[in-house]
Amino acid sequence: MDEKSATYDVVIVGFGPVGATLANLLTQQGLTVAILEREAGVYHLARAGHFDAEVMRVFQSIGVAAEVEAQSGITFGMRWLDADGALLMEWRRGGEKGPFGWVSDYMFHQPDLERTLRAKLNTSTQVKMFLSHDVYDIREQSDHVVIRAEDTANSRLVEICGRYVVGCDGARSLVRRCIGSEHEDLGFKQRWLVVDVLESRDLGLERISIQHCNPERPMYASSLANRRLRWEIMVMPEDDVTQIVRENSVWNFIENSVRPIRREDGEITRAAIYTFESLIAKKWRKSRLLIAGDSAHRTPPFLGQGMCAGIRDAANLAWKLAAICQGRASQELLETYQPERMPHVRAFVQGAIEFGKIIEMADPEALLARTRDMRANPKAYAPPNPALGPGGVGKEYGTKGLGRQVVQPHLADGLMDDQIGHSFAILSTSEFPKIHDEAHRRLTSLPHLKWIVLSQQNASLLDGYGAPAIVVRPDRYVHACAHDGSDLLAVINALPLSLH
Ligand SMILES: Cc1cc2nc3c(=O)[nH]c(=O)nc-3n(C[C@H](O)[C@H](O)[C@H](O)COP(=O)(O)OP(=O)(O)OC[C@H]3O[C@@H](n4cnc5c(N)ncnc54)[C@H](O)[C@@H]3O)c2cc1C
Repeated sequence: MDEKSATYDVVIVGFGPVGATLANLLTQQGLTVAILEREAGVYHLARAGHFDAEVMRVFQSIGVAAEVEAQSGITFGMRWLDADGALLMEWRRGGEKGPFGWVSDYMFHQPDLERTLRAKLNTSTQVKMFLSHDVYDIREQSDHVVIRAEDTANSRLVEICGRYVVGCDGARSLVRRCIGSEHEDLGFKQRWLVVDVLESRDLGLERISIQHCNPERPMYASSLANRRLRWEIMVMPEDDVTQIVRENSVWNFIENSVRPIRREDGEITRAAIYTFESLIAKKWRKSRLLIAGDSAHRTPPFLGQGMCAGIRDAANLAWKLAAICQGRASQELLETYQPERMPHVRAFVQGAIEFGKIIEMADPEALLARTRDMRANPKAYAPPNPALGPGGVGKEYGTKGLGRQVVQPHLADGLMDDQIGHSFAILSTSEFPKIHDEAHRRLTSLPHLKWIVLSQQNASLLDGYGAPAIVVRPDRYVHACAHDGSDLLAVINALPLSLH
């Protein structure tokens, strides 16, 4: 067996969007990272087509937001129509930049995003990427983990060591199995045919998504980015799955869909059947092994949130792993990961299941009730906005805006997050440091803490917290409020990590 002797701070198994995001976040904080991926290149077919402003903030913190923005399209929202085309529910998006500093929702082409994340990593000397490496064995030792993989380019076996291993290895995660975690099944399971089309020219289609809640053939149609269109078509019990993926059959669906285009106007780039499921791993960590992204949870894609949830996992883990590997926190900090993230992701999975029930509804009585209630009075949809769960870093998350993301104002020299970087931050009114100068003096010397004094105009963002200062975590979630200097010092001193 070939030995690869270095011990990395973190070994990431799986180089999908979640692994690539996590690797960027860790290397930018100075950690050494190895990534092992069994494929030789980026997976060429898109799965995710949508991400939100919170995820764009993570890309901003990595330094790829401008490039990702240029590759992405915006969306003006989603409409749910019944079989007759009548409106049942609507989610309107304005397409302009909002309180998080970005447009609330973007449509994109997943391979473009993954290439961008990898290109950014290529500029780092902290990372080693092992492509065509299939991980087959993971063994935990007292202070490190040994990972064995086959280099499938030359059939050699390699051994790599890491202080921590994060499995971003997708639905069939080996790391999850090594943790010994089973799934909790939230009960949704349905096959859908997923079709992507590249327009032969810009067809000028409205930039919205449509959920056609037609019991005869539930269907979703959407514009992604750069002339790419998506249809998701429910597989019915009577379908012959070998037939419905054929080109003629797929065009037949599209031409008769709620968003019809002619076959001469596009080229099918993928038609494949996926099983949409709702699974959450019961255990996300065992000592030095962790899981994130699809290896920890899978959701039906009706809310476009599967990858988004995985990127939130990465943002949650990154600052904790950085603090531990830099000796600023004990390994116990990792105990906060699953309690914070699991209830958050569960809210999105349950939201997607509820959507699934509306779209897939087939029971005649339920359909009548839907027509009566929703068609007569179409609802405005609002996406879930859960707080991080209890049992994490903050005991009061879920109250007073704590445990939710802070907004991102424009400061005199640009967007706020760019000034905070990967640090904790205090956001305060301009009066606060003057009155509490001792706290200001002590805290502004800490290397992992930034103090942002808000202009009068921006200080209104603190109104909802009922305090003149708040403490924000590196993943931009609000940790605590502070009413005065001693309050603030107490909050910082009680953090389960050092900011020195
Ligand atoms: C039809 C569809 C539509 C979707 N739409 C959206 C959407 O609009 N928005 C959204 O946010 N999400 C969406 N999703 C979900 C999203 O695609 C996934 O959540 C996301 O791709 C998961 O990323 P990941 O990095 O966790 O895992 P993956 O992308 O699955 O990456 C895992 C990687 O690990 C590698 N790997 C696995 N095992 C090993 C091993 N033993 N050794 C080495 N490498 C290994 C794999 O080769 C793979 O590259 C959609 C999914 C589907 C199917």
